[in-house]
Amino acid sequence: MKYLYVSCFLMLLVIITIVILCLMDKSKNDIKEKYEEIYRKFRKKLNTVNKKVRENIFDTYEIDGEIKEWIISILNKQTSHCLPKMYINTHLRRGDPNLEFNYSHTMGKYIILSDNDYNRLEQDYNINNENTITSLIVHESAHVHQRKEFEKEATDINYKNPFKELYKKWGYVFSDISHFSNILKYKRQNPDADDDDIIWSYMGKYYYINCFYDKKKLSAYNVHKYAYPIEFSRGKFVYNKGEPILLDNFKEYNDFFGDVSNNYTPNEIYADYTERLYGECVHNKTYESNEAYKIFKNNYFYK
Ligand SMILES: [Zn+2]
Repeated sequence: MKYLYVSCFLMLLVIITIVILCLMDKSKNDIKEKYEEIYRKFRKKLNTVNKKVRENIFDTYEIDGEIKEWIISILNKQTSHCLPKMYINTHLRRGDPNLEFNYSHTMGKYIILSDNDYNRLEQDYNINNENTITSLIVHESAHVHQRKEFEKEATDINYKNPFKELYKKWGYVFSDISHFSNILKYKRQNPDADDDDIIWSYMGKYYYINCFYDKKKLSAYNVHKYAYPIEFSRGKFVYNKGEPILLDNFKEYNDFFGDVSNNYTPNEIYADYTERLYGECVHNKTYESNEAYKIFKNNYFYK
């Protein structure tokens, strides 16, 4: 009799182990499938330095359907009367805590909420606090909108990308830069801005502006914003080893774009400006009207 109990117990143990192993394998496959689907293109584009800082973490997860519906319905309700209209993207996912340095970002048609932002959303949902991460969703939606327009341009050379038209009005020119690859190696690649070839021109001078990792202390959290002087000679943009300016000290640039927290590339400036539009319309906020913000409002094309 005792023997029977022991064998039954062992059988049960084997069955439980098999079930657990099957479940583990399934979740592994799910993650792999999501990563393949969503991050494949981005991962392919990453250079060695950027691959290294990301430590091969590209996992995202589904979000509870009710939480998703809750925040989207708040946004729709808040912005339904806004003129100009706001672009709201409804495809939300949640990122691994170590994905993209825990920054919310976009990938394909998805807004990937950082673990921090998602936790805040979940807490607000639990107490029905409508003062939640809505402005962030507006910012990230702008990036999805941008990606759609840049993709249209990539498949149709005659397509006039309205974002590019606006960025030109801000002074940007689009061109590769010679002798610049050693600098670009340390640029923090941003899933929301494909911007190796975007140059800001001002009063006959040219600058390449972005976020750069510290060469001596490579870390995702040790990043500086620089403007590198670029020269235009014989019809080409060239980097002649000029010293960069810290973006915070670049007065003309900061006066032109104003106090924008994500101020280092036009896609981010645009996304921050849409947050201002949202703040003006929904929360009656007022913002300093810098030259670039005026141009943005006069040329806003999502109507
Ligand atoms: Zn952004």
